[in-house]
Amino acid sequence: PATKLPKVGTTIFTVMSQLAAEHKAVNLGQGFPDFPVPQRLVEELDRAMREGHNQYPPMTGAAPLRQAIAGKALRCYGATVDADTEITVTSGATEAIFNAIHSVVREGEEVIVLDPAYDCYEPAIDLAGARAVHVALDPQTFAVDWARVQAAITPRTRLLMINSPHNPSGAMFSADDMRALADLLRGTDIFLISDEVYEHIVFDGRRHESVLRWPELRERAFVVSSFGKTYHCTGWKIGYAIAPPAMSAEFRKVHQYNTFASFAPAQHAFAAMIRDEPEHDEQLGAFYQAKRDRFREQLLGTRLKPLPVPGGYFQLVDYSAVSDLPDHEFVKWLTVEHGVAAIPLSPFYETPPAGQRLARLCFAKNEATLDAAIERLKKL
Ligand code: PMP
Ligand code: GLN
Repeated sequence: PATKLPKVGTTIFTVMSQLAAEHKAVNLGQGFPDFPVPQRLVEELDRAMREGHNQYPPMTGAAPLRQAIAGKALRCYGATVDADTEITVTSGATEAIFNAIHSVVREGEEVIVLDPAYDCYEPAIDLAGARAVHVALDPQTFAVDWARVQAAITPRTRLLMINSPHNPSGAMFSADDMRALADLLRGTDIFLISDEVYEHIVFDGRRHESVLRWPELRERAFVVSSFGKTYHCTGWKIGYAIAPPAMSAEFRKVHQYNTFASFAPAQHAFAAMIRDEPEHDEQLGAFYQAKRDRFREQLLGTRLKPLPVPGGYFQLVDYSAVSDLPDHEFVKWLTVEHGVAAIPLSPFYETPPAGQRLARLCFAKNEATLDAAIERLKKL
């Protein structure tokens, strides 16, 4: 049959993890921690299963989890969110993004995507019969040029996708960005998806500008997050979307027939963590900042040039002093010949900037893992 997704192959994350395994490379490619989840979370998961939370949870998500998420929105962002009508628990942020796109975007419409962009956005847009319109971020700073976004808006524009802290660059929106975004969308009927999965991984005292802080934006937004990054458990695949009641109702129509509900025991475990250990979120920035700082310091002993990392757990490096290979070839060479797996940036773009020589390294790793990678990178 003719493929519905002609541009899609196997994701770069899968490709690079397989190549890393094949060549016994240190895997700094696909983003996942290599250290354990908090012990308390494991105990809560065990407890949830023993206490019998093993059947279908409510379609919208287990009530204690939705209440805990509402509590967290208030604590972190001063936002009053209704646990019954505005929060839906999903199988990871990936499902939430898919549902949100499918609940508002119709065939022939346009969705603005800021490049580089996380890889799950465009296929979901394509499957909705819509078209992704790509607007490039600044190739050095990864800042948004809002005038360019404005210029990309047409009568067919239905949705804008944003992501801060940003994967792959770590760039973060400022309060000025949020004001520019509000100005841009005021008076339009354009929806917003705000991908905030790295919301707690922010550095140097920066403030995460959640859309939940901005009432005018919240009215038109699906705010998406995930527990995978926050609790070091990317394999548990529990996320959620917060949206106004009418938008949540449409979102739930898709969720209900996509997965219906997500792994019940984990929902109860996260509810307990959020309720009883709020300091976990607050300490996450410092935890990762120590890793970032140590890794950047070590990179100074290599010929890779680290770019600034305001948030998230990825370090971009400029490898132009080492090689002139295009990024796809460079990361394969690095994995096969030098035993360190990385992610190229070009898969995050419709049109990668000509001559860009950047690769993404994940520092959500134990010191021993990062040390082993650095030993190899020093030989470049
Ligand atoms: N958005 C971004 C920016 C991500 O980096 C990721 C995961 N790496 C996701 C969404 C997907 O999150 P989840 O694993 O919870 O589906
Ligand atoms: N979000 C992760 C990353 O950017 C990968 C997730 C996946 O493999 N689908 O590395």
